[in-house]
Order: sequence, then C-alpha cells, then structure tokens
Amino acid sequence: MKILVINAGSSSLKYQLIDMADESVIAKGNCERIGIEGGIVTHKLADGRSFVKEQNMTNHTEAFMLVKDALTTGEGKVINELSEVSAIGHRVVQGGAIFSKSVLVDEKVIEDIDSLSTLAPLHNPAHVQGIRAAVSVFGEKVPQAVVFDTSFHATMPEEAYMFAIPYEFYEKYKVRRYGAHGTSHRYVTGRCLELLGKADDPTGTKIINCHLGNGSSLTAVKDGKVIDTSMGLTPLGGFMMGTRSGSLDPSVVTFIAEKENMTPSEMDTMLNKKSGLLGVSGISSDDRDVTAAAKEGDERAILTHKMLRYQIKKFIGAYAAALDGVDAITFTAGIGENQTSHRAEICKGLGYLGVKIDEELNATIHGTEALISTPDSKVKVYVIPTNEELVIARDTKALVEAAN
Ligand code: ADP
Repeated sequence: MKILVINAGSSSLKYQLIDMADESVIAKGNCERIGIEGGIVTHKLADGRSFVKEQNMTNHTEAFMLVKDALTTGEGKVINELSEVSAIGHRVVQGGAIFSKSVLVDEKVIEDIDSLSTLAPLHNPAHVQGIRAAVSVFGEKVPQAVVFDTSFHATMPEEAYMFAIPYEFYEKYKVRRYGAHGTSHRYVTGRCLELLGKADDPTGTKIINCHLGNGSSLTAVKDGKVIDTSMGLTPLGGFMMGTRSGSLDPSVVTFIAEKENMTPSEMDTMLNKKSGLLGVSGISSDDRDVTAAAKEGDERAILTHKMLRYQIKKFIGAYAAALDGVDAITFTAGIGENQTSHRAEICKGLGYLGVKIDEELNATIHGTEALISTPDSKVKVYVIPTNEELVIARDTKALVEAAN
C-alpha cells in the first residue's frame, strides 16, 4: 500500500509518498509559492536524486497536478499511474473540540475543518483547499484521511486547558488551550515508550517531550496520554520560539497596543512574526544564526539563548510537578535534535530531578536517535528525531483498512 501524505499551507504544498510495506519514503517534495510569481516544485527521491521545476501555480489544484506529474512522469517518476496511490493523508493544524482523532474525509468533515478556521486562520482554509484539490486531481475513489495537530492533546483535563478569563468566552467561542505539534508529540511519545519497554502498557509512565523547532512546544504525558501542553489557543502560547513570543504577562499586550496604537492584527503580527529569537536577538529567527552570533560574543544573542534555555527549564520543572515526577525527557525537531549546547545547558539545571547527561556523548548527537543520559541518571533523556508524516500515513492506512 502506497500512501501520499500532504501538508498544505497557504502558499505551499509538501508531499511524501510512503510505501507502507516497510514504511520507507519513496519520494517527497514541496510546491512553493502557490498563488504568487516564481512558483517552484522540488521533487526528491529515496536515492538522493533531486529535481527542481520552476512553474507558477495559481492554486492548490494546479500544485496537485504538478505533484501528479512529478510522481508519474519524467526522470523522477516513481509510479506508473495515480491509481497506485491507495490513500491520501492530510495534516490539519486545528481540530478544535470537534476532532479528537483522525478521520476519513467526507463533505461534513471538510465543512467542520473550515468552521474551525477562526482558530487557525492561516492553516485550516489552506487544508480545505488542499483536500478539495486532492479530490479534483485524484478523484472521489481515492480515500482521504485527516490527522489533526491538536488531537493528541484532546486528553488534557479541563484544569489544564481552561484559561482564567470569564467562562462565557469558553462557552461563546470555545476559547481554551488546544495545543499544537500533537502529531510530533505522539510519534515521539510512542517511540519513547518503545525505548522504555512500555509500549504495550504505558500505565505509570511520565514523559516530558521537548519539540524545539522554529515553532516549539513542551508536552507532559502521563500513562501515554497528554495531561498538559505549552501551546495554547493557537501556537503562540508557551515559551519563546523562532519568531513567536510565547506566553506573556497579558498586560504587555494591552500596554504596547495602547502606547503604539496597534490594531489586534498588527499586535498578532508582532507577537507571531517579529518576536521570539528574532525579536530579542535582532539577528535571526534561525537558531544557527543566533548561535553563530553568540559565539562571536554578541550580547543580545547570548541573552536570547539564556532566555530560551531558562524558559524551557522552567516548563520542564512545571511539568515534572504536573506529572508528579518524570521518567523520561525527550528532545526533538530541528533544535532539539541538533543543538547539543541547548540540550546540555537545559539538562544541567535539572540535577534536582535526577537528570544527568553524558555531555561527551550528547555533543556527538545530531539528528539521530540516542539515549544521552548516563546509566545512573534517574531520568532517561533521549534524542528522538520526529516523523509526523509517518504518523499521518499510519493513521490513514488504519482508517482505510477499518473501512474496508
Ligand atoms: P519547523 O518548526 O519549521 O519544522 P525545524 O524543526 O526544522 O522547524 O527547526 C528549525 C530550527 O532548528 C532552526 O532554529 C534551526 O536553526 C534549527 N536547526 C535545524 N537544523 C539544525 C542543525 N543541523 N544544527 C543546529 N540547528 C539546527
């Protein structure tokens, strides 16, 4: 069974074709700049060959046509015809309170995803376009599934997901913590439970996952289920990220809005796009650039790193309290998998929890799975490269098989 995994953004469409026989990636790629000049499609094969085509795409359907061409024609061809694709799995950012698990797509599901657009205005409309475009190119017969970034967090208790504002806003608009990165946290949790030898029965396990990428979130997982996560109503909540502020004293927002006469939308842009690593360092949202500047002695880059590590450490402490202990801490995503000095500095402050890492070993781990804690550490610390596409493909396969 071959499954096509789709991650449709407002101006991009990423894809991976996965062979479920061995869960290998047959081909993957990205259609960028949909709807704007300078469209570009990158198509990569498992053997490392890469093909780049410059072509404008006015909408997602045109992008899907190019995906179809990349998969079925030319030098990068990996299948003879589209019918070899058994099913399509879509990543969806916001499932709100409607979707607590992955589902097969029908018209009602598409409408429900669209109805959640107020909670994810940049993402959900793009996902709807992606699903409709997939139907128009692949036809009605190819089953499609949707996998939500929020659904792994659906097990959070109400004391973790409610905000202390008048209850009417929860009733009227469903304002609450939904979290994000759930698909990544789910993959990493599953793998961590396997490594702990607890995959069959996670009862009693306490895991803290640190997904540190351009967007970042921490999740507290008890018995294999999420009990708290750092992102909130939207991915803006939590701690500082590439360009997002993370959680603030709310009066910072009203104070600056008044002083600078900013509209809600301008404030949204400031907090989502101009803050975080970029806002504090004034250098870049990319941690590699901040690291390079910190090495040169740039004071704001050094402050940025101090803040980042401190904020993550505080969240880990809070989640250890929420979990009443911790068995394992995982690091994943671009920064978590690669930034050895952050891992070392964060763990240094966690000795009181029984965390001890092998610093020499840690310094050698970039993007590969590893246990970086010492044998006598009370808490196991793992680097686990995430794989959201595989979770989407597995869910899609399971849903299609259950429906047959
Ligand atoms: P996204 O959230 O967009 O998926 P990633 O998970 O790719 O982002 O994480 C991007 C972040 O990871 C950037 O800050 C980048 O500097 C950092 N990163 C990615 N690869 C490396 C690397 N090899 N070494 C150090 N940092 C890296």
